[in-house]
Order: sequence, then C-alpha cells, then structure tokens
Amino acid sequence: MSGLSFKCKDLGFVCDFEVKGVASREEITEIIRNHGKRCHQLESITPQIEKQLSKVIRE
Ligand SMILES: [Zn+2]
Repeated sequence: MSGLSFKCKDLGFVCDFEVKGVASREEITEIIRNHGKRCHQLESITPQIEKQLSKVIRE
C-alpha cells in the first residue's frame, strides 16, 4: 500500500488514532487538524505542531 500515514501517539498523545494510505500532504494535514480539534482540543496547527508533523508523517 502506498501513501502517507500518521499515528497520533507519535505526537505524544495517549491515543489510538491512525490513518494510512492518504494521497497528499494537504489531505493528511486536514485529517489531523480535524482529529486534533475533536479529540485533543487543538484549535489550530501551530508552527511547532507543524514541525512535529513533518517528522511523524510517514511515506
Ligand atoms: Zn489523537
């Protein structure tokens, strides 16, 4: 399977959320933004989170 994947616990949350096979960076960022808002009270993706995301999003 190809595409981008992300595990929320890689960001340091105690959380089983993960996504796989996402086609684009824009799309996966949007999914993470929605999840963060719903489950972790993250109102927005800050530059610090953005930086962390670039490390934990895998191809
Ligand atoms: Zn989460």
